[in-house]
Amino acid sequence: MSPKECKQFELEIVDDILGNLPSNSSRALQNHLDRCRSCRKLYGEWLKILNDGMNVEPSAFLYKRLKNSFLRLQIRRRLLCPATLLSAVSVAVIAVFILAISAIQSNKPLESWKQLPVASEEIPSFVMNDAKTVQYLIEPQNGRLGSANGIIWVNGQRDEVYCYMQNLENNAEHDYQIWLVKPVKKENGGLLRVIDGHGQLYLQQRNIREVEQISLSLEPKGGSLYPTSEDIVLVDFK
Ligand SMILES: [Zn+2]
Repeated sequence: MSPKECKQFELEIVDDILGNLPSNSSRALQNHLDRCRSCRKLYGEWLKILNDGMNVEPSAFLYKRLKNSFLRLQIRRRLLCPATLLSAVSVAVIAVFILAISAIQSNKPLESWKQLPVASEEIPSFVMNDAKTVQYLIEPQNGRLGSANGIIWVNGQRDEVYCYMQNLENNAEHDYQIWLVKPVKKENGGLLRVIDGHGQLYLQQRNIREVEQISLSLEPKGGSLYPTSEDIVLVDFK
């Protein structure tokens, strides 16, 4: 089987197991699986992980594939809107598993809300108590964020987002403003509340699932209606 053809089926395998694939595509996938040993192997491995994530170590083969950032983002995005078939616990396990893989490439990331230097009363409850919440590491962005890093938690069902960043430079003239990038516009997400280099923002806004990217820009104090400086993508769901 040509690698190009297999690539096309890679995400469909995850969708099929999550119950998100239309029946005609599912049939096409099954036809391919009948003929292709390596995709069959991949399917079996994903099935094990998605059904029993707690007890399954991904093989080096799958691990290597998931280091491909495009694939990782696509799978994260699918896990944001899983079918009811899959238990919330499995979704959380897979999210952590994928997060662990991105951590390999990140610069000393925070791994969970438990490590935040923030009083637990300040952390929104959806971050701590809802297994459907997915966390995304804010990666170093080729140095464009300086040494800043952090985590964004997203809950597509509750339309809630919480952003935590650390190592932000203090800036007397500017605020850090968060943008929710949708297909036709960039919506204002709000300003990071920065204290001693730590920034936090909680927001609840309709239709979080339509958001394609979450970005950050430096804006004059008080924020802007639209980004006035180049915004830096923190999380890309596309
Ligand atoms: Zn194949």
